[in-house]
Amino acid sequence: MEIKVTISYPKIGASGKTGDWRTFKPVRDEKKCIRCMLCYVYCPEAVIDKEINIDYDYCKGCGICANECPTGAIRMMEEASATKEEHKVVSI
Ligand code: SF4
Ligand code: SF4
Repeated sequence: MEIKVTISYPKIGASGKTGDWRTFKPVRDEKKCIRCMLCYVYCPEAVIDKEINIDYDYCKGCGICANECPTGAIRMMEEASATKEEHKVVSI
């Protein structure tokens, strides 16, 4: 049986790039990631793609991805303290 689902993708809205509001940023550790895709499934903003890249232009820093990650591969860091290196890890 074929099941049809609706998939939404983030895009600029009236409020601009909503990631600007973020206080905490999810940072993924590739070494701990087992690519289970739970973060992709649970992200309410649909900003994690199938390669597990996070679109920081629209990620609101809710922390659901980090909460659902079974291996603790995603850490929520204060925006200001996330280093360029850690940013690079998730931006791929
Ligand atoms: S912090 Fe929230 S919005 Fe950002 S990637 Fe994780 S679940 Fe999605
Ligand atoms: S939930 Fe965690 S382990 Fe699973 S794909 Fe996302 S970051 Fe990787």
